[in-house]
Amino acid sequence: MIKTTCAYCGVGCGVTATPREGGGFDIAGDAAHPANQGRLCVKGSALGETIGMEGRLLFPMMRERGGDASLQRVAWGEALDHVADRWRAIIDEHGPDAVAFYVSGQLLTEDYYVANKLMKGYIGSANIDTNSRLCMSSAVAGHKRAFGEDVVPVHYDDIDHADMVVLVGSNLAWCHPILFQRLSRAKEARPEMKIVVIDPRRTATCELADLHLPIKPGTDVWLFNGLLSYLSRIGAVDPGFVAAHTSGLEDALAVATLAPEEVARACRLNLQDLMEFYESFAATAKVITAFSMGVNQSSAGTDKVNSIINCHLIGGRIGKQGMGPFSITGQPNAMGGREVGGLANMLAAHLDLDNAAHRDAVQSFWESPGIASRPGLKAVDLFEAIEAGRVKAVWVIATNPVVSLPNADQVRRALERCELVVVSDVVRDTDTNAYADVLLPALAWGEKDGTVTNSERRISRQRAFLPAPGEARADWLILSQFALRMGYDGFGYASAAEIFTEHARLSAWRNSAEELPRAFNIGALATLGESAYDALQPTQWPAIATADAAPAARPFADGRFSHADSRARFIATVPRAPANLPDGEFPITLNTGRVRDHWHTMTRTGRAPKLADHIAESFIDLHPQDALLCGVKEGELARVSSQWGSMIARVQHGGGITRGSAFVPIHWNNQTASDARVGAVVNPVVDPVSGEPEFKHTPVTIDRFPVKWHGFILSRDALRLDALAYWTKVQGKDFQRYELAGRNAIEDFGAWARQLLGIKDDDADWLEYADRTSCVFRAVHLVDDRIAQCIFISARPDLPARQWLASLFDKAQLDVADRAALLAGRPIAAGADTGPTVCSCFGVGRNTICKAIREQNLTTPAQVTACVKAGGNCGSCVPELKKLLSEIRVEETA
Ligand code: SF4
Repeated sequence: MIKTTCAYCGVGCGVTATPREGGGFDIAGDAAHPANQGRLCVKGSALGETIGMEGRLLFPMMRERGGDASLQRVAWGEALDHVADRWRAIIDEHGPDAVAFYVSGQLLTEDYYVANKLMKGYIGSANIDTNSRLCMSSAVAGHKRAFGEDVVPVHYDDIDHADMVVLVGSNLAWCHPILFQRLSRAKEARPEMKIVVIDPRRTATCELADLHLPIKPGTDVWLFNGLLSYLSRIGAVDPGFVAAHTSGLEDALAVATLAPEEVARACRLNLQDLMEFYESFAATAKVITAFSMGVNQSSAGTDKVNSIINCHLIGGRIGKQGMGPFSITGQPNAMGGREVGGLANMLAAHLDLDNAAHRDAVQSFWESPGIASRPGLKAVDLFEAIEAGRVKAVWVIATNPVVSLPNADQVRRALERCELVVVSDVVRDTDTNAYADVLLPALAWGEKDGTVTNSERRISRQRAFLPAPGEARADWLILSQFALRMGYDGFGYASAAEIFTEHARLSAWRNSAEELPRAFNIGALATLGESAYDALQPTQWPAIATADAAPAARPFADGRFSHADSRARFIATVPRAPANLPDGEFPITLNTGRVRDHWHTMTRTGRAPKLADHIAESFIDLHPQDALLCGVKEGELARVSSQWGSMIARVQHGGGITRGSAFVPIHWNNQTASDARVGAVVNPVVDPVSGEPEFKHTPVTIDRFPVKWHGFILSRDALRLDALAYWTKVQGKDFQRYELAGRNAIEDFGAWARQLLGIKDDDADWLEYADRTSCVFRAVHLVDDRIAQCIFISARPDLPARQWLASLFDKAQLDVADRAALLAGRPIAAGADTGPTVCSCFGVGRNTICKAIREQNLTTPAQVTACVKAGGNCGSCVPELKKLLSEIRVEETA
């Protein structure tokens, strides 16, 4: 059994991979890992389904501009020589700022460290930024302003001791499920613990809340300034802490003089609810304010973070058990990237680019020929500079900016015009890889070795349990071999362990009260040998004992912060409206985010059939009244457009959205849908301090996308459906599921369908029903008595549920009853249609759960689990079970 760490979110759950007899691995939660104590959410549980070779990039590939447009396999040496030659030529002619890395919170700390050292210490530019810019750079900037260092002062254990947990802009239930479950258990053990959710949407997380404040998007600073002012007015202040350990309170209060009535108006909240929150916060010593993308992804993200931290500083609610402001990171190694200075405005080891002493410290440690002397380009600026021709070569590593960046069509234009685009990736086809001149195969999760740091500063090992496929290499090795070709010494690493120990040594370098004190100091790990590194247990800094110092229990426990005077800073946060407000042309505010069972651009979760069913198609969640005003109906397709771009998805209600807002998930892209990249729509305006874009607040208009028909296909073989006006795709078990729509009338359904499905054999076992007048068509293609493909078309989106037909792909042979029901699309036996999947682990559908609740009179999620298993494994669907229980209760009492 190999112990490793989950590939997805910043909770950083420990995972075990145990070889299965006959091949494959059983993936389970690591009971000894403090982050999850054996539990995994549905994404973590499905990791085993994502380690296959399908679609993998296995060899270096190259294309010559102006020559053959297709990528050709080349040897590693040729690819790296080519990249080194081109980079050297560009640097010689245009200077070091003409090249750039765009990297990722998916990288391991060791990969990140080498990329950062190479760019800042040797190439001499700080043009290295990361997709972590898009999710938590506002938290980094807020921490640095308040504490003098990017330090998260809370531990997961604190949840067990808090008396109040405030979740701001965080759908914890879907985005950090294991932490949500920890919170659920704490609430169950101590029901008096108060949970407040501050979110414009009524998300699954609200099922646990005592109070939900559906705040007007973008008004968080008003809310927390109002709280600061209230706490000060009623004397809910820790004067000793404020006097001894902080500065700047008066300035912060001067811009926060808001009466609760004004706050309620600005934030569009019920005054009574607002006062309940303020009074509870004031009356509770042990408060955790956990925040995530709803706070960070904003043109005022850094101020939002500081307005929250201000409210903790005024009462001294920091540095002690059960309290503190708690930034929850999105990616598995966003925190490790911060430790090595993976952002364009940072140096390694929590040192700063704009500080000469810090630059000297890092350069002297690296013994590098130089050091970047000014911040590099942040993500959005970087791709603008590429389009403008100022940056002429970019190397994208482990990320997919054509999908994930705001104004994503601009990113396409930038890559089209860039002289040299290098991409290191795990998969062959992504929206970004389509623009690569050089594609380099990297090791994936399960194959690579290194460390990640989670949201509570716990460093854990990711360990390889699979062999390197094809010619794939570790990212640190690819970068080191490139650096050596560039003529740089200092990159002769033989292992990830060597890099980690160098990183640990740097964290301790000049790290003393007399020189450059930082809380981040993992120097105690600098002497790990290969085997000790391999055996490294999850380790949380700063709680690492050294030869001459006992471990610090937690950051800031002694009230000393990292600013030169050891005081934390209150920051005066002047409320300001989002950069672009809805108007007559773009009247709706678009919010974007994750869904429960998918991750980023689906390059990994999209391969797991277990994760495909919960939400199989991108959607636009819209309030029914707004839908009416936009002229769209639930189930129909609509186009969401902003001044930057547009995308198409299906309209739905019921996602807890307030009037005037819409929500679209971030995951779908050109590999999985015809036109569902929401990044193309998102406003590229950024926070002036952090550079983080405004993913939660883009003014848009929503219009009907008229089609003549809707349909779906389930097919064992992958299909090319580019000719259709609309399609999306997910991977089922032994089949692909496509949702479709078309704008043209179909003359001959049978011929059209057979061509679409690629059926050439006239003798194929083909069942069909066609009613051209009503535009209804259903056909099933059988091979050897098994279902091979089916296609259902209708003028309206009221097609049969897909689950029963999907279940037939598992059968070696269809029985008579199955065959008889094929063209109906639903089973003859009543109750056999389980409905849309709610519990992905056990494949339990909505209809099954609702039936059990009604017939067995169930009242709790535990009873539902006992009855139909749903919720009995990872627990990710428990909030949805609660929702179904309360909906049925309401229905029965109506
Ligand atoms: Fe992975 Fe889920 Fe744990 Fe996040 S909560 S690290 S996705 S298992």
